[in-house]
Amino acid sequence: MPVILVHGGAGTLFKGRVSAEREAAARQGLSEALQAGYDLLQSGDSALAAVTAAVKVLEDCELFNAGRGSVYTHAGRQEMDACVMTGHDQQAGAIAGVQGVCHPIELAREVLLHSPHVLLAGSGAEDFARQQGCAFADADYFHSDYRWQQLLQIRDQDTTALDHGLGASEKSFGTVGAVACDQQGHLAAATSTGGMTNKRFGRVGDSPLIGAGTYANASCAVSATGHGEYFMRAVLAYDLAARLAYQQVSLQAAAADALARLGNLGGQGGLIVVNAQGEWSMPFNTGRMYRGVQFSEQPQVLIYGAGEPA
Ligand code: ASP
Repeated sequence: MPVILVHGGAGTLFKGRVSAEREAAARQGLSEALQAGYDLLQSGDSALAAVTAAVKVLEDCELFNAGRGSVYTHAGRQEMDACVMTGHDQQAGAIAGVQGVCHPIELAREVLLHSPHVLLAGSGAEDFARQQGCAFADADYFHSDYRWQQLLQIRDQDTTALDHGLGASEKSFGTVGAVACDQQGHLAAATSTGGMTNKRFGRVGDSPLIGAGTYANASCAVSATGHGEYFMRAVLAYDLAARLAYQQVSLQAAAADALARLGNLGGQGGLIVVNAQGEWSMPFNTGRMYRGVQFSEQPQVLIYGAGEPA
């Protein structure tokens, strides 16, 4: 019964546009994240513990746009957003625009467990992180030349970019997320991101917003990646859950229909979803989505779409 899914972002880049080394490293990171979460589920731990552990692994991996690998804002900072939600009791914790926190997903979980609030932002969230004993690191820990060059490429333009687009027509979303169903049939969803390169004015995306990029209830748990402004306007993650609640449709159909509606608005991206029966789906409307699932000893990791070699 226990099952965990992870994503490491979607993108319009097709096979061959990302180096084999980077792809192999991304697969490795996703496998390690799945295994970390699945081991906890196997030992009887909660879905909340599993999704937090899986996302932490991805936040430590520089390849993904979360935690250590977060993209730069216009001002040259790294401002991170994260959210966790549990399904059986619909508890939630989220943080936005936070700097210096090594594992934003842990801070979101602290908000869920130890705060009367749901969403904390900026310096207030950082104060709460210090109070809760969360680990901080300086700018060197988070810096990578790769991310810095991405900013320099578009800093003088009045535009933002989704993670590591390699050209004007290419978009890539490196946000990370996890959803899990534990041995009790309880569900949890988690999402963590650095947002968009060159973002300004305190921009916050869909990832920390309940119902937009992250959502869980007793019947499903959802984590999304893609152009956040569209996911917010579509209230995408909740839309999927509402389809399951109010329509007689399968999980696969609800996920596909929710994503189709996002596409009709012009949005690009993907999502992972699991239900309380351990069924799952990982649709995307981009060329690829870093993703994986584990329900037995062996993690399964995929990048490209149907018809393309994984
Ligand atoms: N959804 C994220 C945001 O808009 C970006 C991503 O998925 O990479 O902040």
